[in-house]
Amino acid sequence: MPQIVRAFLGLGSNLGDRRELLTSAVRDIPDKHAISGVYETAPIGGPSQGAFLNLVVEMRTSIAPYDLLNTCQQLENSAGRVRTEHWGPRTLDVDVLLYGELELDDPQLTVPHPLMNTRAFVLYPLADLAPELLSPHWREAVSDQAIVRVEDLSC
Ligand code: ATP
Ligand code: CA
Ligand code: CA
Repeated sequence: MPQIVRAFLGLGSNLGDRRELLTSAVRDIPDKHAISGVYETAPIGGPSQGAFLNLVVEMRTSIAPYDLLNTCQQLENSAGRVRTEHWGPRTLDVDVLLYGELELDDPQLTVPHPLMNTRAFVLYPLADLAPELLSPHWREAVSDQAIVRVEDLSC
């Protein structure tokens, strides 16, 4: 029996039809267990660019970590993501936030995602699904970042 792991993916879009891009990516995610609310945030870092829509998807999966990274990259490719400058605008970004208890320190796949605890657009949707995984003070760490919950995806 393969081991089933609770994994969390963080999705973001700030280029094109953001809601449609997120909806079709979420539809294609295998082993989905739960979908967070959708949150809008101003971009952090990188060039001047439009606001992001972000959400988190919880999976219960036996897909191995690097295969899951590959799945994320395929979703980005299907959304027509073009890599230009670092932290530039993108149709779709899909990051592996958590993979069970796994800790990996590889530039190709670092888990937990190294910046997740500094990002409101990760913590708010993750708190919808798994508040017990967050520090009790997580809100304070991101209190300088404006974030609004918008309409849920209809999928
Ligand atoms: P950030 O890491 O700040 O969220 P980004 O999402 O804009 O940056 P990308 O250009 O999408 O960065 O990805 C760069 C590389 O990050 C990818 O090639 C991938 O191998 C690597 N990477 C390392 N850890 C992860 C992870 N947990 N999830 C997704 N990609 C990761
Ligand atoms: Ca990212
Ligand atoms: Ca990424």
